[in-house]
Amino acid sequence: MTHHLDTRLLHIGSAPYDPASGTAPVSLPAIRTSTVRFASIEALERAQKLKGDGERAITYGRSGMDTHRALEDVFTQLENGARAFLAPSGLAAITTVFLGLLRAGDHALVADCVYGPLRHLDQTLLRGLGIELTYFAPGRDDLDALVRPNTRMVYLESPGSLLLQMLDLPALAQAARRRGLTVVADNTWGSGYIYRPLDLGAHVSVVAGTKYVSGHSDLMLGAVVVGDDPALAARLDTVQYAIGNSISADDAWLALRGVRTMPVRMAHQARSALQVCHFLERHPLVARVYHPALPSDPGHALWQRDCTGSNGMLSVQLKLPAAAGRVCADALQLFEIGFSWGGYESLVQWVTPGALAGHAYWQPADQAVLRLHVGLESVDDLIADLSQALERAAQEAAA
Ligand SMILES: *Cc1c(COP(=O)(O)O)cnc(C)c1O
Repeated sequence: MTHHLDTRLLHIGSAPYDPASGTAPVSLPAIRTSTVRFASIEALERAQKLKGDGERAITYGRSGMDTHRALEDVFTQLENGARAFLAPSGLAAITTVFLGLLRAGDHALVADCVYGPLRHLDQTLLRGLGIELTYFAPGRDDLDALVRPNTRMVYLESPGSLLLQMLDLPALAQAARRRGLTVVADNTWGSGYIYRPLDLGAHVSVVAGTKYVSGHSDLMLGAVVVGDDPALAARLDTVQYAIGNSISADDAWLALRGVRTMPVRMAHQARSALQVCHFLERHPLVARVYHPALPSDPGHALWQRDCTGSNGMLSVQLKLPAAAGRVCADALQLFEIGFSWGGYESLVQWVTPGALAGHAYWQPADQAVLRLHVGLESVDDLIADLSQALERAAQEAAA
């Protein structure tokens, strides 16, 4: 009998019973190691054969032992994939995909709403290696018209970074698959719990475990998850080994501890975020709220069709000049200024006009945009904080 994902997430990697005493701790210990000992040359050869066949094998500390295995299992279960590769950060997972699946002369199509630092990877590394990326507007541009003879990959993120634009991932994936392209999706927003790109047509899902999976803003982690495609898994396995990606057993352990409560945290944060959205929507200083679970969001129908839940992320556009976003962010007290999200705490990021420039979904206006992450604080306190900060920003703008 297959249990619900909530149940499976709690039991993956349970510590095995000690055969002598018949006892075990609830949680798997962090197994720290660089060197793996083999009982015999025969055992070593067995491990090497597995590895040579592209299977998971324990051979050396870089790929870890039981703690890492359990965390890989968490990601494959979350994403409904066949194989997961861990990376030292979400961005490192993205880099692994681009270096693993593209080579000199290749071209990839990238949705213009993706995580910003990918453009930096493009400019500083990929371009110099002869890999070319084209950014496209996923809600507007015709994919077929953009595909070139050397196009190999379509890279998406839904909902998009900054403005949470919902993409029609199944349609985009289908169009890409018709052309023989590999479809990769950054699923940090969904983290495999509320959105599953592999079920919607993607070949590969990339997740920053730094965010909701770990959930406590105390570690960096990434994962690359592949569906049932052994050839693709073998390519990623090879590049994973070549690059030398490795994460510490302590971070793997912390992520395992964090993910046990992810369903509860996410659901709570989603509820609070929706309340914050309703407050903001009615506020006279608010021009627009971006949050696909909100019925007024243009992506709401896609969200209803493709997602099973939501989280604490939202963006808000104010009827105040862009620069007022700075004042408002400074005036907030519970929402602290910081990058990243997915932890237990509320955060605010001032989204500057420059950051939105490459996004076709953004309708340019001299209006302030803030991205909020709603944490586990009392939602009444969060709304009171937003209320006073909006008043302050309006006063300063009028002065
Ligand atoms: C944060 C983030 C990343 C990068 O993750 P890090 O662990 O911070 O490197 C990638 N994609 C998205 C959508 C993110 O929000």
